[in-house]
Amino acid sequence: MVSPEQKQIVLARFTVCPNKDCKSERSLMRTLVKKEVKAGRMEEGEVEAGWFMTSAAAFNPTKPPLIGSVVQVGTGVIDICLDCGTVYALVVAKSEQTITPAPMPGMQSFQPPHIPGFSNPM
Ligand SMILES: [Zn+2]
Repeated sequence: MVSPEQKQIVLARFTVCPNKDCKSERSLMRTLVKKEVKAGRMEEGEVEAGWFMTSAAAFNPTKPPLIGSVVQVGTGVIDICLDCGTVYALVVAKSEQTITPAPMPGMQSFQPPHIPGFSNPM
């Protein structure tokens, strides 16, 4: 497993739907966050959430990295356009993470890397 606390570098942010016939700014989680702000349960700009966040480490699976080695990890925060249904990335980030020993089964749950300003609803 990789350590969760290493620094994320944001490579790109997308604020509109990439569908050239759409270009909407309305996405599922942005809309839900706006409703929470309106209801007074969140502050404006406090958090921008994606529908899900996923990460993958870049290494050759036939030569797994050793404990203590550093790997490149790519992360995407994904949302859904409310006007055309296109699933697209809000944020694309990278980090270097150190391989740590795997926890004992049942001892620790996986923590996805943290991107400042974003929350993962899962
Ligand atoms: Zn769209």
